[in-house]
Amino acid sequence: MSGIVNYLLYYSAATANIMPITSVCNVSCIFCSHRHNPPGVDTYHLPPLSVDTIRDLIGFLDAGKKIVIGESITKINEGEPFTHPDFFAILELLRGAFPSTLIQITTNGTLLTEQVVRRLTALAPLELNLSLNSANPGSRRALMNDKAAKLAVESPALLASCKIAFHGSIVGLPHLVGWPDIRETCRQLDRCGAQTIRLFLPGFPAFSPLAGCYPETSLAEFAAEVKKLAAEITVPLTLEPQVPDDVQATVEGVIASSPAALAGLRRGDIIVAVDGNAVRSRVDAFGQLARRLKADVIVDRAGVTRRLELVRTAFQRPGVVMCYDIDFSLVDRVKGMASERKATATAVLTSEFAYPLWHRVFVDQSGMDVFPVASRFFGGTIKAAGLLTVSDYQKAIDAIQVDSRYDLIIVPQISFDPKGLDLSGKSYLDLWAAGAEIAVL
Ligand code: SF4
Repeated sequence: MSGIVNYLLYYSAATANIMPITSVCNVSCIFCSHRHNPPGVDTYHLPPLSVDTIRDLIGFLDAGKKIVIGESITKINEGEPFTHPDFFAILELLRGAFPSTLIQITTNGTLLTEQVVRRLTALAPLELNLSLNSANPGSRRALMNDKAAKLAVESPALLASCKIAFHGSIVGLPHLVGWPDIRETCRQLDRCGAQTIRLFLPGFPAFSPLAGCYPETSLAEFAAEVKKLAAEITVPLTLEPQVPDDVQATVEGVIASSPAALAGLRRGDIIVAVDGNAVRSRVDAFGQLARRLKADVIVDRAGVTRRLELVRTAFQRPGVVMCYDIDFSLVDRVKGMASERKATATAVLTSEFAYPLWHRVFVDQSGMDVFPVASRFFGGTIKAAGLLTVSDYQKAIDAIQVDSRYDLIIVPQISFDPKGLDLSGKSYLDLWAAGAEIAVL
């Protein structure tokens, strides 16, 4: 294994409690982000890690935070964890080292046989993120090339009967399977007791033959569908990516039997204050609830103020489901960076998705402007900051810095790996603007 992959493994475990174990996957989804990348994308394929390496990585995990398997925050491609030949040995090692820490496994569901699910029950507490995509075997086969689609389609009922908590996810491709298929998949997840459902509006780079299928208007279409369905089913349903246009801490849904449900929180409530602290955004409200075992919560319910008490144990999460809006600690850091450097004019660069909300938050900050950066390297319908590259940022900087107007230009850290490299392998240190310092937030 190369030095950089080794570094990313330990970085992932130590900073995010994420255990990459393999990049091997046993299906080939037509929406998989590993397909149709432009030439020059710098990502890594991880063969199944040895149990010895896993044992070493476990030493870097934090017992106080959930342990995540099957996700990636680095350039290591995520794979299907259940394909790892020693997966149960790994889970048993983790459980031995952390008897009560929640283990979260993201899976495509292809290998969830009755025998596998029954073995999982002995490893509680754990929860699954099930990428179901369709509850119809034919549609699932078409979307994911899953030859044994029936097994995954039946897995929600099996998980429910074995009392294993799970969340469902669907990458929405209505032009292929139709909205009735997506609606029925949500209903099936609801009937089987999923804790939450996430519907993803897919983003496709310019190289993908599907890039033209989901223009900007698709977001409104997806949002309208989610609104109708969320009112019909009981499980909290959210659309991703969706950046709200305000910072009111609106509750999208409440997980059944969770501390939030027992406290009386409901979909549509706006969390106004927690233990007397005014809430600044959804991210702030969620963070405040996640830090407390007991919280006095003031909500606005259709114009009427209510006081609720949310109580949970150290191993429970609050159970409130909200969209991601803005992390005000980042806003405060931008202001701090400008103040430390005595900048007179600061430009904050952000993704096209985040721009409307960031612009609204910064509109009254004199001497600071926010600009959206178009994703040209990936192109297509990609608008997320995680896929912006040095070449995208340089083009945006060249356009705004024609008269050396800014003395500080800030770019988001999420576009760069721990060594400061973007997905094309270029360093943020290569960014250049006449008369300005460029800093990473
Ligand atoms: S299950 Fe995930 S990793 Fe595997 S092909 Fe589908 S999207 Fe890609």
